[in-house]
Amino acid sequence: MRAEIISIGTEILIGAITNTNARYLAGKLAENAIDSYYQVTVGDNVGRLVETLETAAARTDIIITSGGLGPTEDDITLEALLRFLQKPAVLHQPTLRYIQKRLRLAGYKMSKLALRQCYVPKGSIVFQNFNGAAPGILSHIQRAGKKIWVLVLPGPPRELEPMFNTQALPALLSQAKIKREHFVVRSLKIAGFTETQVAERVPAFLKSKPPLTVGIYARPDLVTLKVMAKAGSQKKARQMADRTEKQIRKKLGSSIFGIDDETLSSAVGKILANRKKTLAVAESCSGGLLGSLITDTPGSSAYFLGGIIAYHNKVKTAELAVPAILLKKHGAVSEPVAEAMVQECRKRFASDYGISITGIAGPDGGTLTKPVGLVCMAIASDTGIFVKKMILRGNRHEIKTRAAHRALNALRLQLLQKAL
Ligand code: ATP
Ligand code: MG
Repeated sequence: MRAEIISIGTEILIGAITNTNARYLAGKLAENAIDSYYQVTVGDNVGRLVETLETAAARTDIIITSGGLGPTEDDITLEALLRFLQKPAVLHQPTLRYIQKRLRLAGYKMSKLALRQCYVPKGSIVFQNFNGAAPGILSHIQRAGKKIWVLVLPGPPRELEPMFNTQALPALLSQAKIKREHFVVRSLKIAGFTETQVAERVPAFLKSKPPLTVGIYARPDLVTLKVMAKAGSQKKARQMADRTEKQIRKKLGSSIFGIDDETLSSAVGKILANRKKTLAVAESCSGGLLGSLITDTPGSSAYFLGGIIAYHNKVKTAELAVPAILLKKHGAVSEPVAEAMVQECRKRFASDYGISITGIAGPDGGTLTKPVGLVCMAIASDTGIFVKKMILRGNRHEIKTRAAHRALNALRLQLLQKAL
């Protein structure tokens, strides 16, 4: 089964509102394993809406529209729908009674405009709007010997969402006899590789077709592979996803730090908590972001002791005992300074592990030898120290984010390899 979403409203076309209805409906279709190949937005114009409905009918099984069901002149959905279905409008008594009651409670009289909303195409299934006036409508039309379902929903999200979820979707699933397929979606979270590097390692998976597909999504310093498995039973879908995850893990190894809701922070936290080890941080250019990421994980107090934001050189010397001479000789962004910061940090907090970050987040402050994006970080335990220098891309915010993520991932890899 294929569905096409048609969003109706000139407001959407001119960018006055964000089309959250299409996003909501698309998500629900995906959840229910209903394919969706096209989404269209059309203005408040009868002719163009009829044309859009015709185009959709030629290439889909289920048409879902949102908007344009209100009582005013610019609300043209019903008129276009009647023309498209070539069915007469009939007065829907339960809707008439419902709207009359709503108006009475609000102290208004029934008007001609309000009466317009009580008409539906003959033979429709009607959904009462518990959060507004205009009812939802499920109808159908025959095209090239095929039954095409048309579901018409009101525009305001607080009306559309509950109506779709509790009434329209169940009706559509049973009327259109949509076989409920079972679905498992699993996100594999990857750090330390770019999107291209990941794609190069799993090219065959990215080409796979339903019932098993693998999509790739990238954010700064985080690549996600989304495995989607469809099958006749939940167990079969899970087995398919498990098998695929195992094969992908073989290609990507420890760069996969978690699945679904896991973050780098929670992955590191899990290892530290299991080993009953503690962590403290000393941050310069990341300005506290590393500590913030670590404490995003509930329960982080079990292993995270705290940190020092040593942004100014004076603070690096006073709070982290970085010798002024070292700062002068190598500069604040240097491996020896990162090393000195992490050592003193561990000492001050008496932590098992320490992380330090110092860098140039830009946009100013870069030089030929020390460009914007240069970051030095150090990770230490009482058995050793790991220092790394790197050049990160992006604007100030991206460099800070990348630096904090890289530091967390470096600690995670050191912990996994038991190198420190
Ligand atoms: P009303 O009775 O309020 O006129 P309606 O069914 O005619 O409802 P529209 O007139 O198309 O719907 O839209 C009404 C309001 O609903 C818009 O001003 C907007 O706030 C919201 N809305 C409409 N379509 C969307 C959409 N696709 N995504 C998000 N919000 C929307
Ligand atoms: Mg309207």
